[in-house]
Amino acid sequence: MDEIVVHKFGGSCLRDGNDIDQIADIIRTSEGRPIIVVSALWGMTDRLIRASREPRYASRLVQDLTYQHLRFAPGLDTGEFGELFKNVISGISKELLKLSSGEESLRSENLILAAGERLSALAVAHRLRRSGIEDAHPVGAEDIGLRLKGIGRAKEIDIDASSVNLDRQVLVGLPILTGWFGEGDDGNIALLTRGGSDHSAAAFANLMNASKLILWKDVDGIKQLNPRWGIETPAIPYLGYGQAAELSMHGTPVIHPATVFPLIDEGIPIEIKNFHNPNSSVSTIIGPDIVTDEIVAIGCQPGVAIITDNKPLSSDLLLEIERLGITPWLVKSTPEEFRIILPKHELDNLENFVSGKIEFKTAIISILGNPDIPIEHELISTNEYATRIIVETNQLHETIRELYHSLFSRQDCK
Ligand code: ASP
Ligand code: MG
Repeated sequence: MDEIVVHKFGGSCLRDGNDIDQIADIIRTSEGRPIIVVSALWGMTDRLIRASREPRYASRLVQDLTYQHLRFAPGLDTGEFGELFKNVISGISKELLKLSSGEESLRSENLILAAGERLSALAVAHRLRRSGIEDAHPVGAEDIGLRLKGIGRAKEIDIDASSVNLDRQVLVGLPILTGWFGEGDDGNIALLTRGGSDHSAAAFANLMNASKLILWKDVDGIKQLNPRWGIETPAIPYLGYGQAAELSMHGTPVIHPATVFPLIDEGIPIEIKNFHNPNSSVSTIIGPDIVTDEIVAIGCQPGVAIITDNKPLSSDLLLEIERLGITPWLVKSTPEEFRIILPKHELDNLENFVSGKIEFKTAIISILGNPDIPIEHELISTNEYATRIIVETNQLHETIRELYHSLFSRQDCK
């Protein structure tokens, strides 16, 4: 039997109708047996979030949404998925109506947001069929028993529960699976954090014993330094799972922070490829960690909060951090001191739980690989994947670029 390859197409690969022709080409030439995971069409989730906050504009939104999906997939409303399409659209109207009558409910909000992925799967399946891929069909992750760890919102997919629960029988032909949501611990729909379809795709790769996961993005893989810092650097050819997870914890990551977790035990590789240049030889492969002396990449997250206290760690604070799905960069608890370092913007949600002293710093920088030179900034942790330092500067761009040049030029001279 052919080995399964999971292809994930996010919003940046779903901007207009031509993109589907590109998806069709990729699928036709894919090695192995392809399975597709999609997120919502470009910009759709942002619009659905706004709509659920301003439900009084509901009717206009529903019209717009219908129009946009039909422009993307003409004939969707009258084709074989027409009934499903109308059901999702009327489901959105219904839930928006509930919200506008003042009924506050996370379930309604989640149903509205998840509809973005449902509509996208319908639109993609419809267009692929029209382009001759007859066995394409949409599949809702919640409908086939994909389980998430949490109620309403969740940090990750429950692989063990899903593996027992999943109705694999429907995954014949070319399934177009919805990313981002599933069934929560209470049996109701639950959502991952933003960008979570990468993690959904990884979970499906695990559950279907895939030989590979390809994440199609609008970049040539993960760069040594995010281009937002003002220099173009090469894509990293190979990253270990641990390094990839580390890098995705820092500012505007290419992949969702939970992406790699479902793949580690089986060692399933991820390839990050450029959707607009699929035949390019440049890409990033993520797989088992290998020990190396090289500097691999630099990640940076601006806006750091440091909480210190001489009292022991408040369990309420830790529980709240866990509940909100926040991943701190450091949690240190000794009899004398407690210290926690996390993104500054997360502090707003924790205000009522924090005691002790709060300090703000410009940024945290993570150096992946082994920086065997003294670094003049405050060190916060170091392990086999990365060395994390804190920088305090009003010239962050320059500081990062200097660090990049000094670390990588030393390496090039070696
Ligand atoms: N559509 C969702 C979002 O925009 C999930 C995803 O893109 O992965 O966050
Ligand atoms: Mg999206």
